[in-house]
Amino acid sequence: AARTRDNLRCPIIVIMGHVDTGKTKLLDNIRRTNVQEGEAGGITQQIGATYFEPKTLLTRCEKLNKTENLNLTLPGVLIIDTPGHESFTNLRSRGSNLCDLAILVVDLMHGLEQQTIESLNMLRSKGTPFVVALNKVDRCYNWKSTTNNDIRSSLKDQEEGTTQEFRSRAEEAKLQLSQQGVNSNIYWEMGDDDWKNSDFVPLVPTSAITGEGVQDILLLLCRIAQEKLWRQLMWCGNLQATVLEVKAIDGMGMTVDIIIVNGTIREGDKVVMCTMDGPVVTEIRGLLTPPPSREMRIKSEYIHHKEIKGALGVKIIGNGFDKVMAGTPLMVVGPDDEEEDIKAEVMSDLKSVTENLSTDKNGVMVQASTLGALEALLQFLRVETKPPIPVSSVGIGTVFKKDVTRISIMKEKKGMEEFATILAFDVPVDKDAREAAEEAGVKIFTADIIYHLFDHFTRYMEEIAE
Ligand code: GDP
Ligand code: MG
Repeated sequence: AARTRDNLRCPIIVIMGHVDTGKTKLLDNIRRTNVQEGEAGGITQQIGATYFEPKTLLTRCEKLNKTENLNLTLPGVLIIDTPGHESFTNLRSRGSNLCDLAILVVDLMHGLEQQTIESLNMLRSKGTPFVVALNKVDRCYNWKSTTNNDIRSSLKDQEEGTTQEFRSRAEEAKLQLSQQGVNSNIYWEMGDDDWKNSDFVPLVPTSAITGEGVQDILLLLCRIAQEKLWRQLMWCGNLQATVLEVKAIDGMGMTVDIIIVNGTIREGDKVVMCTMDGPVVTEIRGLLTPPPSREMRIKSEYIHHKEIKGALGVKIIGNGFDKVMAGTPLMVVGPDDEEEDIKAEVMSDLKSVTENLSTDKNGVMVQASTLGALEALLQFLRVETKPPIPVSSVGIGTVFKKDVTRISIMKEKKGMEEFATILAFDVPVDKDAREAAEEAGVKIFTADIIYHLFDHFTRYMEEIAE
């Protein structure tokens, strides 16, 4: 297929910002789903991807586009949700690495917060263009909402006092952004020169609850993508794909979620991925996606495909996925390719990822549902916890008896007894494993909210110390 402006791939848009600014809710509003309330503790602990079809985008933006007249040429958009909590820097970084464009969500009531600034710096260091959603406008005093209205019409409906509150809060956000070295303005008040300046950031007031401003932000993102980023969005045949998560799913075994940035992937393709023990060459047995406007993290009626074109989030089925590392590339071995060359290429940038996963000689065992969560746990235990908690062994998926046996050796080491502990995040514990743990005196702490796990363990350590 020719590389032209008329043949674009979906832009990958990442949604970032401090915890509780409304990132997931905003996506829920676009999807018309309720992922946020289904999350453990209402917090996002995984990275997720949702594909939106052109017809969905056009329907959502119908009213505003009567005056904006955007001729949508994109084949849709792919939006990636990221966790906002401190420990998930790795996932935010992975999200921001992949994306073409970003939404930085700011809680209009709180202004710029710590992870907002961190996200901002991440985006700037990678030169990723972004728009700022000034979310929760409906919290302005006496706000009169009209569901899914475009934001300018909604603002016109407000009384003087409400408009003033909005104005002063928006000004405050602008000031805080400028303190970070970012020039910005409410998007419809930007001048021609501002639009031409690629460092200038448009602000879009939104409410994820009432849907006000959602059509504004969608339309703006589409416009920026196709009018400013079309060169990098030209579709091409070469596969460019990254592993997002490695995850055990009932009835499917270990699956790998990937983001295809560009190119095509087919069932039966021979692919190379990275593991800690070297490259793995395997065949793609199945290509699954959630339906459009549905989140990849959420179990749903997966659609089976023979072939998929980027950009899209895809779950792949096959064998030998156990040790595949998130954040690393996936490559296809084509008919003209030397397998050894592809292997070397795939492994070339693994170093930074493995550094995060190295283990200590003595320490607890950490088991998690995904590699991303595992990295976050390690980050927290070893860097953010004072004093750090050492980790001697890590794993993904169900806790089995063999894991208990492995960590029980800490019992035999003098002064290391309390490390005969398994911290199991969002994974089942096998019945035999429970019994073995009981017998061997191995502690197993389980939780589906990462922070609860730390609380359990810290309390346990304190008890021992007393
Ligand atoms: P995230 O951590 O950024 O993903 O934030 P969530 O989507 O989990 O939202 C955090 C909380 O803020 C939830 O209780 C939401 O219901 C609430 N919230 C999100 N967006 C809005 C909004 O636009 N208006 C109001 N009033 N509440 C919101
Ligand atoms: Mg969230």
